[in-house]
Amino acid sequence: MAEADIIDGRAFAAELCGRIADAVSEMKSDHGLTPGLAVVLVGEDPASEVYVRNKNKATVKAGMNGFEHVLPMDTEQEELLALIGTLNGDDAVHGILVQLPLPDQIDEQAVIDAISPDKDADGFHVVNTGRLATGGDPMVPCTPLGCLMMLKDRMGDLSGKEAVIIGRSNIVGKPMAHLLLDANCTVTICHSRTADLPEVCRRADILVAAVGRAEMVRGDWVKPGAIVIDVGINRVPKPGEEGKTRLVGDVAFAEAKAVAGAITPVPGGVGPMTIACLLANTVTAACRQHGIAPPEF
Ligand code: NAD
Repeated sequence: MAEADIIDGRAFAAELCGRIADAVSEMKSDHGLTPGLAVVLVGEDPASEVYVRNKNKATVKAGMNGFEHVLPMDTEQEELLALIGTLNGDDAVHGILVQLPLPDQIDEQAVIDAISPDKDADGFHVVNTGRLATGGDPMVPCTPLGCLMMLKDRMGDLSGKEAVIIGRSNIVGKPMAHLLLDANCTVTICHSRTADLPEVCRRADILVAAVGRAEMVRGDWVKPGAIVIDVGINRVPKPGEEGKTRLVGDVAFAEAKAVAGAITPVPGGVGPMTIACLLANTVTAACRQHGIAPPEF
C-alpha cells in the first residue's frame, strides 16, 4: 500500500491567510471596517511571548489592527479584568485573546468569563461552548476549527465517517467532537480511562490525537487509509545530540504514515492552522458585530 499523503498545514494556513487578507481588504473598501485583534499576555514566559508576537505579526500582515498588551507577571486579577472591560468596550477591537496559562494569582475561568462572548476570538467562553454544543453561531476554538478545515479540504463531505478523538479537553477534544458531530460523523471521544484505546482507534476513518504524550499512537492503531490529525506538541530529546530537543506529535509519525491515507506532520501540521483560524475568527467576529454576513473560510 502507498504511504500516506502529508497534509501541509503551513501551505494550507498560508493560503487561508491570503483569503483572510482579501476578505479584510473588502471589508475596508465596502464597509470602512478594519477588524482588530487584541492579544493580552501576562508575564514573561518565552514560549508565550513567541506565540503572542507571531499572532500579532500575522494579524498585521492580513491587514488587520493588532493590539498587544503585555502585563507584568505580578499583575493582579482585578487589573487584568479591568483591561478586558476596556477592550470589551473598545469599538476598534473585535477579537480578544488572553494568552494562557496565566500566573497562579489569576483565576483563568474568571478571565475567560469576563471576555465578551462576541469578541471571544478563542471560543472558550461558556456562551460559545454552549452555542457550539446546541447550535447557533459560536466563536469556535481555533485549533479544532483548523483541524476541521483540513479534514473537509481533504475528504469533502464527512457524513457517516467514523471519527475517533483522543483527548477530552475543553480547548481541543470536546469542541472537535462537536464540530465532527455537526459534520455528521459518528464520533467517539477517548481519554485516559478508555478501555482498549488501540482497538477503538482502529475503527476510525478520522483519527484526531490531542493528548500531549509523545508518539503514543502507534502505526497498528491506525486503520488503513484513515486520515490522521496530530494535534499534540511534545518536546523530546534529540537522539545522539546531547542537550538538544525536537518536536514530535502524539502519533508515531513514520509508523502511522505507512498505514494512513493522509497525516498531518508535527511541526507543520495543525500548529500553523491555529493562528490562521484566530485571524478568521476575528474577521467573523467583526462582521457579526457590524451586521455583515461573515465570509465562508
Ligand atoms: P490536556 O492536557 O488538556 O488534555 C489531554 C487529554 O488527553 C485529556 O482529556 C486526557 O484524558 C487525555 N489523555 C491523557 N493521557 C491519555 C492516555 N494515556 N490515553 C488516552 N487519553 C489520554 O491537553 P490539550 O490542551 O487538549 O492539548 C493536547 C495536546 O495538543 C498537547 O500536546 C498540546 O500541546 C497540543 N495542542 C496543540 C495545539 C496546536 O495549535 N497545534 C493547540 C492546543 C493544544
